[in-house]
Amino acid sequence: MSNGTYDVILVGGGVMGCATAYYLLKFDPHLNIAILEMDPSYEKASTPLSDGNTRIQFNIKENIQISQYGLEVLKRFSEEMEVNGEKPDAAFRRQGNLFVLDDASREESHEGLLLQKSLGCDVQWLSPDEVQKYYPLYNLKDCVAGTFGPHDGTMSPLAVLLGYKKKVMALGAVFIHAEAIEILKQESQIVGVNLSSGERLNSIIVVNASGAWARKTSKTVGVDLPINPTKRQVTIIETNARPEKTLPVLFLPSGLYCIHESEGTFTVGKSLPTDYVGYDDFNWERNKFETVIWPELVKYIPSFDRLKVTRGWAGLYEVNTLDGNAILGEWPELKGFYLANGFSGHGFQQCHAVGRYIAELILGINPTLDLSVFSPQRILENKPVFESRRKII
Ligand SMILES: Cc1cc2nc3c(=O)[nH]c(=O)nc-3n(C[C@H](O)[C@H](O)[C@H](O)COP(=O)(O)OP(=O)(O)OC[C@H]3O[C@@H](n4cnc5c(N)ncnc54)[C@H](O)[C@@H]3O)c2cc1C
Repeated sequence: MSNGTYDVILVGGGVMGCATAYYLLKFDPHLNIAILEMDPSYEKASTPLSDGNTRIQFNIKENIQISQYGLEVLKRFSEEMEVNGEKPDAAFRRQGNLFVLDDASREESHEGLLLQKSLGCDVQWLSPDEVQKYYPLYNLKDCVAGTFGPHDGTMSPLAVLLGYKKKVMALGAVFIHAEAIEILKQESQIVGVNLSSGERLNSIIVVNASGAWARKTSKTVGVDLPINPTKRQVTIIETNARPEKTLPVLFLPSGLYCIHESEGTFTVGKSLPTDYVGYDDFNWERNKFETVIWPELVKYIPSFDRLKVTRGWAGLYEVNTLDGNAILGEWPELKGFYLANGFSGHGFQQCHAVGRYIAELILGINPTLDLSVFSPQRILENKPVFESRRKII
């Protein structure tokens, strides 16, 4: 029995909260852990609204290592998350990711490719002719090259989230349907959380795993994080394409991406500078696809000049406005307040390594991966860690 007192309280029961709880319990099965989730239906949570893509193609060493670790975990995910004979299926399609390079991105992408290879990643540099030969649907004739990560791909983010969630509940974590309205401290030590129900829970360790709501959550204990909830939408299209096998995900230099789902179905998205910032707009706008995204897409996939828009949805990115990267670890001025925030649209794939890292920090275990480059100290010192010289995300 907890009597309202826990070893660790996680605010947010998305993939980050559940993965962190899993690693805590893996390291120490006796821990008393509470996961607070204000909406167990996950209607607005970013995880189920995500595209579920994972990629090795990053430019920061630690981001590459995070992905390498995630790919290893995915190989054993089903076995590791088994509960009473039920094994979750992440439905991982290793269709590969193909990044298109233009003149502006050539140098940086080449540097990234060399770094990825030096870390043991399989990434290939393809000429536009090679891309055309292997994937006739894609037209890169006016581009510099494509970099191809054959082991990348997409999966069901909900299946991964529920895999972790069911496992941690089986391991004894308490899942509480409640909103954390105030994180409590005494001087510079965390002491608990006030819930919207009026109840108070006690703990000297609270993890902010509240995704796009991270800034709001942190503000209740006087910490202002540079994280904006930013609307991002995706659109599902039906086309006449019938490739023999699943095509790699296409990433254009502008950030537009196109995921081959099956047969003629593709998912398309792009971050736009005009995307709404706030917690209250989840409306999918067909017009944005038709006027902004479609014309650009057709340049790279000419046969998509005719297609049918079937549906779409919008969710929130947790954009770290300082540098577009994760903020991981204990807030330097507040003992016991841990952050797993700021993923800026690539947090789903990072849940495995981040969950493990946060658990290691909390338990004082030497980290498997040193992710201190993403320490919250850099926020206080205003020292950004950029993935790209050209844009934040
Ligand atoms: C359209 C879209 C596409 C994306 N595609 C990808 C992709 O392909 N690959 C990738 O890696 N990432 C992708 N992402 C990003 C990814 O979804 C997120 O980085 C990741 O899911 C973050 O997980 P999380 O657990 O931190 O957040 P969430 O899944 O949002 O979970 C946070 C939870 O905290 C709860 N919460 C918040 N405040 C409180 C409170 N005060 N009390 C209690 N509960 C609270 C919320 O209800 C929510 O359920 C995408 C995101 C979007 C929107």
